Amino acid sequence: MQQGKINVQTENIFPIIKKFLYSDHEIFLRELVSNAVDATQKLKALASLGTFKGELGDLTIRVKIDKENKTLTVSDAGIGMTGEEVEKYINQIAFSSAEEFLKKFKNVDAANIIGHFGLGFYSSFMVSNRVDLFTKTYKKGGSTKPVKWSCDGTPEYTMEETDKQSRGTDVVLHINDDSLEFLEEERILSMLRKYCRFLPVPIEFGTESYSEKVEGEKDEEGNDKYETKERPRIINNTDPLWKKPPVDLKEEDYLSFYRELYPMQFEDPLFNIHLNVDYPFNLTGILYFPKVKHNLEVQRDKIQLYSNQVFITDSVEGVVPDFLTLLHGVIDSPDIPLNVSRSYLQSDANVKKISGHISRKVADKLEEIFKNRRDEFEKKWDDIRIFIIYGMLTDEKFAERAMKFLLLKNTNDKYFTIEEYKSHITDLQTNKDKKVVHLYANDTEAQHTYIAAAAERGYDVLLLDGPLDSHLINHLEQKLEGVQFARVDADVMEKLINKEDQMPSKLSEDDQKALKELIEKTIDNKEFMVSFESQSPDEVPMMITRPEFMRRMKEMQQLGGGMHTFGAFPDSYNLVVNTNHPQIDLLTKKETAEEHKQKLVSQLFDLALLAQNMLKGEKLTTFVKRSVEMIG
Ligand code: ADP
Repeated sequence: MQQGKINVQTENIFPIIKKFLYSDHEIFLRELVSNAVDATQKLKALASLGTFKGELGDLTIRVKIDKENKTLTVSDAGIGMTGEEVEKYINQIAFSSAEEFLKKFKNVDAANIIGHFGLGFYSSFMVSNRVDLFTKTYKKGGSTKPVKWSCDGTPEYTMEETDKQSRGTDVVLHINDDSLEFLEEERILSMLRKYCRFLPVPIEFGTESYSEKVEGEKDEEGNDKYETKERPRIINNTDPLWKKPPVDLKEEDYLSFYRELYPMQFEDPLFNIHLNVDYPFNLTGILYFPKVKHNLEVQRDKIQLYSNQVFITDSVEGVVPDFLTLLHGVIDSPDIPLNVSRSYLQSDANVKKISGHISRKVADKLEEIFKNRRDEFEKKWDDIRIFIIYGMLTDEKFAERAMKFLLLKNTNDKYFTIEEYKSHITDLQTNKDKKVVHLYANDTEAQHTYIAAAAERGYDVLLLDGPLDSHLINHLEQKLEGVQFARVDADVMEKLINKEDQMPSKLSEDDQKALKELIEKTIDNKEFMVSFESQSPDEVPMMITRPEFMRRMKEMQQLGGGMHTFGAFPDSYNLVVNTNHPQIDLLTKKETAEEHKQKLVSQLFDLALLAQNMLKGEKLTTFVKRSVEMIG
């Protein structure tokens, strides 16, 4: 038996591993199984190069727990190690053999070797009193006898010859008393399902029952007879969908993979994007746009990050662009460093590049769907717009790209791109400052009267009622030249009419002056500015509009924009009087009694308030009473 001391700089590396390296103790299993996969993949690579000429045999990796002896064992039939290699790879812990392997066999697909797990193997000391390693190399002759290495978590270790018969490595953890949970079948099963679900080598753990038809036998009712049997349980899918070439896949494949990934997600996704990048870095994956409308937050943390099919994390904040954390799916890249700390990941330049690239790919794909399948894109637009708008607001580059496929929907359910819409409305909706005014409603019920009024004049009205739409409006106003947005009840419509198109006004200047006085006296409210407009007699006699700017400022203030120091913004409205309406005409007639005129003004004003949802409380009661009287 050989005794030795592990060559580490600090005596106390183990407490450090235990405490700081992995906050999550369960990670040890991922590390051990990954090493086993790694060793198996290496053997396969050697076989394909002809360096290894023997039988590969059954390469299944087996995880076993033995409660009585308090051990957990991970066994593989990979390349194994010679005593010398154990000395080198296990004892000189900083040494990564994956690197050396790669140097030797440059022409083997590097992506198939999971490397750089840092202190992977040693993470097993987080949960063990002692770790035994039995290993037999694939190599023949010389000093290739199987060895047993054993270490109790101090830098001292022992190494001796052993009689292991089969090729490969068994790592036996003697679980410590603080970690007995790792001897529970359910616990291990859920860990394996989490970290190892898509590893490329079959992993067996425990058994599962299944029912099998008994040939030639029927039950009492004459139906086929089945019996329950046990078989080894394979916990992983070795050939996940994202690794397959997209051309070979059908829509159903993506759907069933989605259901495999998220068995608890009941709604099917809207779109999927298959990422397949090999330059300037390696990245594969499938992203799904899930169906959501409200409450974006519950959606987060569904994307799973893998490195060569090893699960790393599902908390990808900072790793992928923020808006993509709202999507579902998987991203797999050996180029994302498997560092244990997330803050490190977030500051890594490589990760930033990858993140930018994913965002670009997503934009490209959306543009492609928009171009080739516009009907489908439009149908799903209402559901995906929230992701796209969120992306535009948080990712400058994505915003630029999205301008090509961002859709605007009008109140008649027609969809337009930004450009299409602008040319659609330019003729009628350009104001005197040469700005193309995009009218919008954010509540079709409440703003019904205004939408109808706009339609009457031949204007188009957009529907922008989503939770992020006010931000989108700001964004678009900043980015688009000569474009202005105004809510349909804003005081802009009158300014759109070309002078020559305007109808002649029925009211003289003097009439208007007198009427203005009458109205101001009657309504007695400084918040309303009375103005006159020559409109069709079919339009309403009075209408309330709001200065767009003031309304937005007020809304921002309500959202807590921090402007309270200036005091609340005063309310300010326009009371627009239609000079061509017969009721208004009545108000200017000498024959009409003064008392009746005042009643009429109050009534028309209240109706205008009502259309703007502003008639409430006592005013509403008075209005109802007056209306009843007037009918009588
Ligand atoms: P890393 O995997 O990052 O190299 P580890 O500490 O997990 O770091 O493992 C150190 C080395 O020990 C590996 O690179 C590998 O050469 C060797 N090793 C670990 N586990 C096995 C195994 N199951 N079969 C063969 N070699 C192994």
